[in-house]
Amino acid sequence: MKLLVMGPPGAGKGSQARKLIRDFNLEHISTGDMFRQSAERGEELGKKAMEYINDGNLVSDEITNRIVKKKLFEEGANTCFLLDGYPRTVTQAHALDDMLQEMGSKLTAVINIVVDKEVILERMVGRRVCRDCGYTYHTHFKPPKEEGVCDKCGGELYQRPDDKLESVRNRLRIYEEKTRPIIDYYKGRGVLVNINGMQSFEAVYRDIRKALRDLT
Ligand SMILES: [Zn+2]
Repeated sequence: MKLLVMGPPGAGKGSQARKLIRDFNLEHISTGDMFRQSAERGEELGKKAMEYINDGNLVSDEITNRIVKKKLFEEGANTCFLLDGYPRTVTQAHALDDMLQEMGSKLTAVINIVVDKEVILERMVGRRVCRDCGYTYHTHFKPPKEEGVCDKCGGELYQRPDDKLESVRNRLRIYEEKTRPIIDYYKGRGVLVNINGMQSFEAVYRDIRKALRDLT
């Protein structure tokens, strides 16, 4: 099984991916981790990638494709994996298809967790975090007993800067611009599986499992 999990910020794709990795015994292939490890080993590829990252930029397609290719062909990845952070562009998606074809394989599914923009805004903008213990609340879905005060430790609750309305809107806009074309690409390849992300974590996971069962 070779999987990709996609979805807008706040769709909960990270926690779904972690559970899939555990339950299906998949190798977690994270480009972010590979860049860091390569840089730690003193390799040029990793060092160049970290320059992009440290400047707040996306790592170039060329470097990203090379590191994934190295992983898949030279270092010998598990035949079952979940890709994390890749592909980020349609060029990378093409490159991945070519690599898998060369291996005589293909993606099993691209799981797309779908959540309406309004729901994401509501989920993220209402989030509050304790300054002292880091516990998270939600003004509407999980309010503290006393407004602005942590139930656990009495610490002050605050809104993280990236949860503010403007920031969330901005992240959603970037997601639409950059990721939408990749989703369209996979839709055209017939591997896209849309999952309703506007349900509980368990219900979303159950739907993913069902979709995978139907595929395999
Ligand atoms: Zn607290």
